[in-house]
Amino acid sequence: MIVVTGATGQLGQLVVEGLVNQVPVEEIAVVVRDAAKAARFGELGVEVRVADYNEPSTLADAFKEGEKVLLISGSEVGQRVPQHKAVIDAAKAANVALLGYTSILGGPAADFELAREHQITERYLIDSGLPYVLLRNGWYHENFTQALGQAIANGGVLTSTTDGAKVASATRADFAAAAVAVLTTEGHENRAYELSGDHAWTYEEYVAEVSRQLGKEIAVSRVPGEQHREILVGAGVPDMFAAILVGVDEAISRGLLAVQTGDLSKLIGRPTTPIAHSITEGLQAAQA
Ligand code: NAP
Repeated sequence: MIVVTGATGQLGQLVVEGLVNQVPVEEIAVVVRDAAKAARFGELGVEVRVADYNEPSTLADAFKEGEKVLLISGSEVGQRVPQHKAVIDAAKAANVALLGYTSILGGPAADFELAREHQITERYLIDSGLPYVLLRNGWYHENFTQALGQAIANGGVLTSTTDGAKVASATRADFAAAAVAVLTTEGHENRAYELSGDHAWTYEEYVAEVSRQLGKEIAVSRVPGEQHREILVGAGVPDMFAAILVGVDEAISRGLLAVQTGDLSKLIGRPTTPIAHSITEGLQAAQA
């Protein structure tokens, strides 16, 4: 069996869809906290198991011996260390064959706040003695393009990155395809993949493409970190999360999210999706 946690999330759904296209459905299970959200998978014949990362007892029956498991990192920033440890403990108790984890580009080298929980999880997983595979995901294109409507309404793309800073992002679907590849092929035990897009773009290139597709000039609005944080807080972002977002921009300025190893395109057997594609989708969603 191949088991995917976080399967009702945006990445998880793409992973399950990819698996359904490649392996018999009887060999796929999902671990979700809300069975109703996974009804679509159940109808396809995928086994639906219910467990919550916050409730270790619910994880006791989530995995079985010999299964390959993908732990999709949780979305509750600040809560994720005990959550991920609980999943790893349950997988260890079940004696699974492989535990894949969606980590962060750079792993131990990613020295910014948002990466901290991933680093602790990686260490815990490695020390558990379970066969593991680390999918160190770079940034999703969609982190930028999903908010395009708002950026356009506000007159520009707000950032506290420095001039010339680059991001080697890729689509969620690209990262999902990499997860499907490591779950359906052999030889990935105890490896770490640094996953990022084939092209590292600057904010200037990004807004130039947005402007070209929109037929209207959009600017980069560059502000210092402290001002960026104030703007985010003023827009309703909780202070702690605003600080985390500014920390990400600072990491981008230091090139941490522009790392390119080619691991992603190698794993998925095709070039990663250009950001222009996600810009088109983002603009369509903004205009819908
Ligand atoms: P997402 O849509 O927010 O999905 C998160 C998944 O985690 C959902 O399925 C959610 O379940 C599940 N989850 C959260 N807390 C849980 C809990 N206590 N117990 C069980 N399941 C729980 O995020 P995504 O876009 O798929 O991304 C996957 C993960 O990558 C995120 O969770 C985050 O760690 C990380 N991430 C990466 C990037 C990047 O650019 N690389 C960007 C954002 C996030 P429900 O469906 O029930 O809510």
